[in-house]
Amino acid sequence: MTDKSQNINELFEKWILDSEIKLNEESLIKNLLSYLEGQHPEICGKCTPCRDGVIKLETLLKRYQDKTATLKTLDDIEKLTYNLRSSRCSVGLDIGKNMEVVLENHYHILYDPVKEY
Ligand code: SF4
Repeated sequence: MTDKSQNINELFEKWILDSEIKLNEESLIKNLLSYLEGQHPEICGKCTPCRDGVIKLETLLKRYQDKTATLKTLDDIEKLTYNLRSSRCSVGLDIGKNMEVVLENHYHILYDPVKEY
């Protein structure tokens, strides 16, 4: 595990344990992208959910930064996140678990910019 991914994992520990941590859309996306990019050295490329899923998640999250995210973007983020449950080892499983924590606790931050009436 690299120093960077160690730091990001500590951030997730805080998110899980401390409900007082409040993030806005900008900081959430920035932290998520930093986390996912920090996982690259750990990804061996042997299975699709992790190898391709993480890259696709990053692409979708960047749509929030360039204001092109839609409800489908969020739907695809959810599908890719849950698909990480079928990863072959703990690297992909942990990324999926952490992404599920974010979706569970910060869903409104990702939903608000793309909601439709
Ligand atoms: S989940 Fe494990 S086996 Fe699959 S690509 Fe990631 S590191 Fe490799």
